[in-house]
Order: sequence, then C-alpha cells, then structure tokens
Amino acid sequence: MILKDLCQVDGQMEVLSGLRIGGSDDMLQIGGTDLTFIRDPASGLPYVPGSSIKGRMRAALESALGKGDSEPCRCAQRNCPICVVFGPHQKAKHELGPTRLIVHDGLLVPGCIPVFESKTESVNNRSTGAAKNPRTLERIAPGARFVFRLGIKFYDLDEKFSYDNKDKKPVTGKDALLEVVYHAMDLLETMGLGAGTGKGYGEIRIVGDKSSWGGLQRRRSVNIVAVPA
Ligand SMILES: [Zn+2]
Repeated sequence: MILKDLCQVDGQMEVLSGLRIGGSDDMLQIGGTDLTFIRDPASGLPYVPGSSIKGRMRAALESALGKGDSEPCRCAQRNCPICVVFGPHQKAKHELGPTRLIVHDGLLVPGCIPVFESKTESVNNRSTGAAKNPRTLERIAPGARFVFRLGIKFYDLDEKFSYDNKDKKPVTGKDALLEVVYHAMDLLETMGLGAGTGKGYGEIRIVGDKSSWGGLQRRRSVNIVAVPA
C-alpha cells in the first residue's frame, strides 16, 4: 500500500449556539459544582478536541447512511465510506489500511476572545414542576471561532473507491474521499457539536473552508549549503 497524496482542508468553526464540551471535572456528576468547558492545560484556553469533531462527523454520517446500530460500523468492507474514511470500529485485523481522515484539535482562531456563559440545568418533577439536581454548565457563547483543520490520506488502493452522495453524481478516488468528508461536514453543521445538541446546544457553521491536495510534495529546498569547518 502506497501513500499517494495528502489533502488539507482548512477553515473555521463559528459557534452559533452555546457550545458545551466537558472538561475533566465532568466526572463530578450532578451537584453544585460548575462543569467547566475543556481547556488546553498548557495555555488554559478552551479548545475543541479533534476526537469530538471526528466522532460527531462519523455518527452523523452513519445515521444518514444507515450504518452501525448501537455501535459504530465495523464492517471493514472496501466500499464502506465509514470504515474506509473513519476506520472500522475496534477492529484490529482488516485490509483497509490506515484511517484516511485526520481531525486536528480546534484551537481558538488568533484574536478571538471567547465569551463563557453559565447555563443552569435541572431535572423537573413532572407532577409538581419542582426543579431538582440543578447544575451549572459552562458553555462557549455564540460568536467564538475555532480553527477547523482536517487531513485526508489517499492510498493507491483508493483509486477504485467510490461514493454516491445521492444529491450529486457519483465520484471515485480522491474526489470520493473528499466527498465523504464534505458530506460529514454538512451533517455536522446540521446536527451540531458537543453536548446537548437535542436541546439546541452546539450549533456550528464551518466557514471559509478550502481543500488542497498535493501535501506529499516536498516543500524544503534541496540546496545543500556547505557548513564552514
Ligand atoms: Zn463499515
């Protein structure tokens, strides 16, 4: 199996409704403690883990394609867009090669100062209406922007991989890999990111994205400068 090309997709994620991605104190469960947004331990700044983005893209695409049930798809078929692009779930032995999609952590866009908002949630007693177990969540308010960056790997065995997004004409090879990723990005915008999307949290929009293949070309100069003795 030969790696033939790399694609980079670059854009930004704009938060449209309160985004909630839990930090480590979510382990404390219900109580009066604030549940903070996940932060980079080095900088202290909030970020969106690549694993959260990738997981939601995968789940959204699986729902749309009717793949997987309670567990993510692990069919490992050559033509399964989920298993080829995202990898077969917990399956060590297969012939699909490495996962094609790399999702980078979404760091804050330089210059963006995020606004945090506190949202108190509770469970209501259905007969009395009384609130119980209130807890306060930290969310990122609408307007914040995070970097959205993906990498896509194209191997020789992907030449025959094809994808039919129904709305468009079927495509093969590199175009098919990219189309799977774009489809998942569209669904991510529809279905939202992070916790509480069913309550309207985590609506995002991907803006200014562009893709470029050619990532395997050498970028460094080959001019060798003699080092003085
Ligand atoms: Zn599959």
